[in-house]
Amino acid sequence: MKKTTRAIHQPYKRRDAYDALSMPVYNAVAYEFDNAQLMSDVFCGRVSAPDYSRVGNPTVENLEQRVKGITGATDVVAFNSGMAAISAVFIALAQQGKNIVSSRHMFGNTYSLLTSTLKRFGVEARLCDLTNVEQVEQQLDDNTCCVYLEIMTNPQLEVVDIVALAALAHQRGIPLVADTTLIPFTEFSAKALGVDAEVVSSTKYISGGATSLGGLVIDYGTFQPLGRALRGELLFNFGAYMTPQAAYLQTVGLEVLDARYRIQAANALELAKQLQILPQIKHVNYVGLPDNPYHELAKKQFGNTAGAMITIDLDSKEACFAMINKLKLIHRATNLFDNRTLAIHPASTIYGAFTDEQRREMDVNDTTIRLSIGLEDVDDLLDDIIQALN
Ligand SMILES: *Cc1c(COP(=O)(O)O)cnc(C)c1O
Repeated sequence: MKKTTRAIHQPYKRRDAYDALSMPVYNAVAYEFDNAQLMSDVFCGRVSAPDYSRVGNPTVENLEQRVKGITGATDVVAFNSGMAAISAVFIALAQQGKNIVSSRHMFGNTYSLLTSTLKRFGVEARLCDLTNVEQVEQQLDDNTCCVYLEIMTNPQLEVVDIVALAALAHQRGIPLVADTTLIPFTEFSAKALGVDAEVVSSTKYISGGATSLGGLVIDYGTFQPLGRALRGELLFNFGAYMTPQAAYLQTVGLEVLDARYRIQAANALELAKQLQILPQIKHVNYVGLPDNPYHELAKKQFGNTAGAMITIDLDSKEACFAMINKLKLIHRATNLFDNRTLAIHPASTIYGAFTDEQRREMDVNDTTIRLSIGLEDVDDLLDDIIQALN
């Protein structure tokens, strides 16, 4: 079956008692056992069945199975936010004295997780230019526990050569972990590019229009200790498993992910082309534009779509604020891949707590507005932007 079919038709692990077509929300915390031996077998992992919803829940497991079916992963673990999924992977792979090789171009909270939170536990973040393979090679050593990258960085929209970095990491037995939030896994195979584990903020494309928070770790089983640590240690000792209500919403979201994504990506491309013509906009950054420096590489790796996030640059921060204030249809809000189009000024919000120097290092500029393109008619979006610029 193709991915779009699997997104809807992945069979339930166990037939529902009432043959419900969509997996019910099992809000139960604990599950009863027929006898003490079975209870012992489940608790000790000899038999797979839910026992306690911090570590296993039928509704959440159903979402995990669907994602497993689509991606061909060996295991998928659902967390209650993207950040919970990302921190779980780092905690599973790292320990005092180890280092993580990554970039300064990344989501703000991941950056501060690496450079301040994990630093307190003796884990070093080695941030370098991931587009430069030689530079990455110089950073790797025997204490490197993973190479971590975003497939399309938020908000810089940088794309790296994943195949080259995976080959480099694998030569030294180091896993490559990729945040694939910006292009859904229905579009491309991260495993085929050499990614050992994907982390996704399912809050974004998968939730189905900003219905709920969630995060996924998609483990391809190519780096053995990861899956074991996630299920056998992280959920037990740290918690942060996805809630059944969120899993239900995200399963419904996953069923229509491909349909929504196609419209959003097409809208983004069309809008990016139109915005390039407007004189008030100094620069439009969208990987789907043929003159974008990452266009060819992105096409090779992720296929013909380039996501639904665009950034535009105006003359000044004041011009950005003025435009954002005048928007009538587009919402002033964070988040990505809502059904509605959203606008935010990253430098003063998501990156507002960083110093000017840190923002410079991260290439987060005062003149940039980030747009997440929704399902509206492109003409209405363009009209709104034009009236807001004037
Ligand atoms: C939003 C986002 C996250 C964090 O996800 P949450 O679900 O908000 O915790 C991580 N990485 C990227 C690229 C994101 O856009």
